[in-house]
Amino acid sequence: MKAMLLKQLGRLAENPDPLEPADIPTPAPGAGEVLVRVSACGVCHTELDEIEGRTPPPRLPVVLGHQVVGTVQELGEGAHAFRIGERVGVAWIYSACGECPACRSGQENLCSQFRATGRDVNGGYAEYLCVLEGFAYPIPPAFSDAEAAPLLCAGAIGYRSLKLAGLQDGQILGLVGFGASNHIVMMLARHLYPKSPVYAFSISERERAFARELGAAWAGDIGEAPPEPPERMIDTTPVWRPVVEALGALAPGGRLVINAIRKEMVDKDQLLRLDYPTHLWLEKEIKSVANLTRRDVSEFLELAAQVPIRPEFQEYPLEDANHALQELKQGKIRGAKVLRLAPH
Ligand SMILES: [Zn+2]
Ligand SMILES: [Zn+2]
Repeated sequence: MKAMLLKQLGRLAENPDPLEPADIPTPAPGAGEVLVRVSACGVCHTELDEIEGRTPPPRLPVVLGHQVVGTVQELGEGAHAFRIGERVGVAWIYSACGECPACRSGQENLCSQFRATGRDVNGGYAEYLCVLEGFAYPIPPAFSDAEAAPLLCAGAIGYRSLKLAGLQDGQILGLVGFGASNHIVMMLARHLYPKSPVYAFSISERERAFARELGAAWAGDIGEAPPEPPERMIDTTPVWRPVVEALGALAPGGRLVINAIRKEMVDKDQLLRLDYPTHLWLEKEIKSVANLTRRDVSEFLELAAQVPIRPEFQEYPLEDANHALQELKQGKIRGAKVLRLAPH
């Protein structure tokens, strides 16, 4: 099968084409697994964190990609949850142990045995992948394959971030960075919390304009003072300055949720600007979001179909994965990026 392989880690600035097209054996589904023929795979900022070594894959080469939509092609021994030809999605959670205190309390995202699709095992930048049937999701018919792909990480983790933010209807929500995840959070928030104004903060005028198009009550630069202090904020940027600025903008008693698997080190010195009375006092909180649970994905897909949420996306052929990643790194973003696989 055709796949884009990551063979070596390194900074994108030094190696702009980290993925190599390759022909590798089509995997065979093991016990309890299904073989999925991939039709679309979303491109996530986490792929940059993997390539640049901030969350490195344990083994190379590896196939990246954890927002996968495709059809069930073959059933492994004992797999009976899906029929051949049924459309399914695969998300970042490839597996968790199912037995530890975290798993038993509904927090399988925090399991120490957590394995991630497209990092710990091969993912969706390929024509096929295998997945445990208990970790695959039916895709609601409301969505095309390419529309559904970004819902599986950008959307589902955005949903988890919004839940952790604990917004109440009428409170102001501040979104810091306005890419694949936060543009979906905006659509969701406008549905779930119709009285809550949404403010968008971004260094990119293109992203600010996009936020206004989608109904932001205000959009400004990172560090620009909003009309009112937001009670809840969600940061999706890869760096530190926006965290410090967001804490400064946050209302007393407010909460900042950081939706990022890793932060880059380039501007870590910004943290030295942290001033206790300005950024932390008055009971301000910070919380990170780690991975997601199967329940997050299932709940979100159902909710997204009801709204319905239609993410904006740009498509690239699988072979252009490096190009999509470069654009993501350079901030050339409008909504989500999705790799399309030719019908095969
Ligand atoms: Zn992701
Ligand atoms: Zn566990």
